[in-house]
Amino acid sequence: MPVKTPRVGFVSLGCPKALVDSERILTQLRLRGYDIAPDYSSADVVVVNTCGFIDSAIDESLQAIGEALDANGKVIVTGCLGANPQRIVEQHPQVLGITGPHATDQVLALIHEHLPRPHEPYLDLVPAQGIRLTPRHYAYLKISEGCNNRCSFCIIPQLRGDLVSRPIGEVMAEAERLVASGVRELLVISQDTSAYGVDLRYATGTHRGVEYETRFVDLARALGTLGVWVRMHYVYPYPHVDKVLPLMAEGRVLPYLDIPFQHASPTVLKRMKRPAHAENTLQRIHSWRQQVPGLVLRSTFIVGFPGETDAEFQELLVWLDEAQLDRVGCFKYSPVEGATANGVGEPVPDEVMQQRYEAFMERASLISAARLAGKVGQTLQVLIDEVQGDKATARTAGDAPEIDGVVHISGARGLRAGEFAQVRITSADTYDLHAVPAA
Ligand code: SF4
Repeated sequence: MPVKTPRVGFVSLGCPKALVDSERILTQLRLRGYDIAPDYSSADVVVVNTCGFIDSAIDESLQAIGEALDANGKVIVTGCLGANPQRIVEQHPQVLGITGPHATDQVLALIHEHLPRPHEPYLDLVPAQGIRLTPRHYAYLKISEGCNNRCSFCIIPQLRGDLVSRPIGEVMAEAERLVASGVRELLVISQDTSAYGVDLRYATGTHRGVEYETRFVDLARALGTLGVWVRMHYVYPYPHVDKVLPLMAEGRVLPYLDIPFQHASPTVLKRMKRPAHAENTLQRIHSWRQQVPGLVLRSTFIVGFPGETDAEFQELLVWLDEAQLDRVGCFKYSPVEGATANGVGEPVPDEVMQQRYEAFMERASLISAARLAGKVGQTLQVLIDEVQGDKATARTAGDAPEIDGVVHISGARGLRAGEFAQVRITSADTYDLHAVPAA
């Protein structure tokens, strides 16, 4: 009688960095001969990778653990919330084990303990690029763990520790494997991409015989040789970021920068303890756009930060009007347990926070609509994400997956997911574009 292959169920919550942790665990499980179960009922044990960033994420994680326990009963918890095991055990004392984030080996040890390891399989059961949770044509490339900053609203350094960069040779080897397996877009992620390599004192490494330093600009240069879209996320506006603009102008990396500004009022930024808060960002943005006219800027902001006055909020609105950011996300401040920000000023009342949120989003949506309207009539390269009948969904260089808008293409027969195409933009709405294949 054949031996039943042990099956592990997996729930992955949180940000792209947590997603990469999930992919690593899944890859290792397949390497060790485990199957991945598509649902709770067919799993022998369930791993829940949690998020602990803000209260709503903590609630969602605790709820997911509860659901897995109800449906399956055997649950291992990992991820950011796992750095605070007490919080989990108080509500779910029956979990089998808990680890913090970025703990592949500990998760595997717990799985081996509760679900004995099967016979050693052949390594070629796993594709060279490992197991990924994203579609085949794009992948997140995590270049470092942890963060040396101490933003007052954030507990990620407490959860994930100080910055630990991956050497550039290792990152490039992974990038190359991904491209060889069909990836057409690499999304570079970390907590602070522009600080990449500072902990390694910018140690050198080689890729295809060329020497590079483990630093942000060299990484962009090296990735730019792979012939795929390279998108930079979580970039702080340190002065050296300017050096990546020529690579964008040359088409080596996408003309796209995801910079989490969080606010624009210098006094709020100071209370937030934001990195690079003293930089004159408006001047920088202006100069970047002169160098790379099609540059798309995305950012996130927090409204209702403790002590935020009306005047400080107005400063943010004026700044936004000037900066004309293409893509903007906004959060209402949420007091994360353990964050020093909770004590830096009077809490902003909920109704004021809501009004500010609405005012901010209204302003941001007008800017987005106007900037997208400017693309109507242009012919742009897009990466096709999905095709259904004669409709397709795609993204331009200015759209990151999941967080930005999309291009809706009609008359799309013949287009294929994962391939590039040229389309003509026919109309625009607040966040999305509409197009037809270019003649
Ligand atoms: S840069 Fe600030 S917000 Fe981002 S992870 Fe580091 S401490 Fe947190």
